[in-house]
Amino acid sequence: MRYPKLRELREAIKAIFKGPYTTKFPKVPSPAPKYRGKAEFDEAECVGCGACVEVCPSDALELFDDLKKRKRNIILYYDKCIFCGECQTNCITEKGIRLTPEYDLATFDRAKAKTSIEKDLLLCEYCGAIIGTTDHVKWVVRRLGLLAYANLGLLLVSHKELGLAEKEVRRLKKLPKRSDRIKFLCPKCRREVTLAD
Ligand code: SF4
Ligand code: SF4
Repeated sequence: MRYPKLRELREAIKAIFKGPYTTKFPKVPSPAPKYRGKAEFDEAECVGCGACVEVCPSDALELFDDLKKRKRNIILYYDKCIFCGECQTNCITEKGIRLTPEYDLATFDRAKAKTSIEKDLLLCEYCGAIIGTTDHVKWVVRRLGLLAYANLGLLLVSHKELGLAEKEVRRLKKLPKRSDRIKFLCPKCRREVTLAD
């Protein structure tokens, strides 16, 4: 029979009083401060541009536009995410999506392994085409500063924010005329308005 060495005996006695060296995870959370884990959107910083969706190599991000509700949804599926961090690196606001140290993502229901963000869409007043999200256009206005006043659509967005323009966007029934230049129009309709006499 092999008898325990003195060192092993000492460790065993210590363990009786101190408990085992291993952590009690998952019963007790075991935080990992430096870890590339679950990605989370930041509601205040994300503008819904969709750049992260374009760069995601594993199709873990999906974008859905609902023209009827005028809403854009971006969904992040954790079961597809490979935690590469491309979304965070390429986010246009640099803070719209971040990888957190959270790694405990195990679940019995895959349908629950997702998160999403919803943004208002800005549609062309004439043809209904998507111009972008309202937050994205506002972000462009802020970035451009005074230069935004060179673009009528952007000018309208900043006036809307200041309460100087109508909140509700109406659909134009007739082909736009030159007098409709100060409207939310997609590039195609804006060209038609500009060329109209
Ligand atoms: S971390 Fe990588 S895989 Fe995961 S959502 Fe971002 S870009 Fe896609
Ligand atoms: S702001 Fe950033 S997180 Fe939001 S949709 Fe654009 S790239 Fe993605």
